[in-house]
Amino acid sequence: MDFVTLLTCCAVAEACLAAALVNSGHVKDRSGWQTWALSLSMRAGAFLLYLLPVFVPAWSFRQPTQFAAVMLILFSAAVSMKGTAEFLGIALPRWPDLAPLALIIFAYGLAFTVFDSPSGRIAWVSIGLAYGLAWSNWKIVRQSIGSAHERWFVVTALSLWVVVLLARVANVLVLPAAATATAISVASQQPWFFIGYLIAVITTVVGLIGLRGSEIMGHLEQARLEAERRVNTDVLTGLMSRAAVLGEAERMFLALAASNQSMAVLMVDCDHFKSINDRFGHFVGDLALKELGRATRAVLPEGALAGRFGGEEFIVLLPSALVPASLDIAQALRLAVREIALESGRRKVALSVSIGAATVSPEDRTVQDVLNRADTALLQAKTKGRDQVVSGFARLSDHSPES
Ligand code: GH3
Ligand code: MG
Ligand code: MG
Repeated sequence: MDFVTLLTCCAVAEACLAAALVNSGHVKDRSGWQTWALSLSMRAGAFLLYLLPVFVPAWSFRQPTQFAAVMLILFSAAVSMKGTAEFLGIALPRWPDLAPLALIIFAYGLAFTVFDSPSGRIAWVSIGLAYGLAWSNWKIVRQSIGSAHERWFVVTALSLWVVVLLARVANVLVLPAAATATAISVASQQPWFFIGYLIAVITTVVGLIGLRGSEIMGHLEQARLEAERRVNTDVLTGLMSRAAVLGEAERMFLALAASNQSMAVLMVDCDHFKSINDRFGHFVGDLALKELGRATRAVLPEGALAGRFGGEEFIVLLPSALVPASLDIAQALRLAVREIALESGRRKVALSVSIGAATVSPEDRTVQDVLNRADTALLQAKTKGRDQVVSGFARLSDHSPES
């Protein structure tokens, strides 16, 4: 393959990959994507500038065109460094990072003007580009973006790019022909360079897309978990939502029924809550519900689940291991609610709950049967005077209120 074909391939590949990068930026929360695409486009433009004298033989500004092409390549290295920083969400490259590149540009200028050395020019362009890529590599290695193997894929691809560029430097410096040849004829002796370069560019971009894709998937997974958490949590009390706690009740019932184990349910209802709203206002009513949620979370032992069934009613689920202690837990909750110190304009807001408790019995077909028994027990607690625990258990005696 000749030099013109290879350079055209490089230009087309970089332009296509720039377009691919822009199109893959589904989530445009970081501009690193576009900046990397810009650096690829700059190099595609540079390669086309190189080819201009070939395609337009009458072109009489060969030297300035070559110089402009190289400047584009060297500046593309700085742009890709900026892109990497934006992509990783780290500080943008500053003078200490850019100074080596500035020196390389200066050295290139000397090779171009004072020394008129084709091999020196090729070496400095390659070193400049390699520096930008190595800098990106170093930053990517130090960040924990994406999964480890995706990160290593990009790092390996960038390293390949750097190795290819440095091999080219070594090649033009040791090849005796390089010293006298023109830039284009030196390049034509090295098709391996362009092929290696192409492979490195393609694998880097594929790796970047993969890395970004996995980052987007990570964001989506986080958003999904957050949405799930919000749906399953009652915002006011911080307990489980109605749907979540009923779902858990069903699951617990079926799991325990399969292994012939029991579970207990506590139906908790705040006493005279309507009058709290009426006397102190709904805002205080909401504060009271918050406090009820906090007290419930503080009292419940490990393994117990609690959710807001509706309004000022709560459900507590106790798995088999907690069944023997369920009435004690209910009493602890009742006493904890009485301890809630809520005030509104120096007036104490007295809170109490009535609790109905029930356990699974052999004839229960669904968890609703247990919930109904707990509800009946709760009604009894209300009619008996509130602020007490009533058990719907088969053989357990009622717990009467303590004062
Ligand atoms: P009982 O002792 O018989 O349970 O009496 P109660 O007043 O607690 O019962 P009732 O069911 O009549 O009233 C419940 C009240 O709870 C009515 C409703 O306005 C209030 N409520 C329900 N949800 C909320 C809420 O999210 N915030 C506030 N502030 N009040 C609520
Ligand atoms: Mg109620
Ligand atoms: Mg009530």
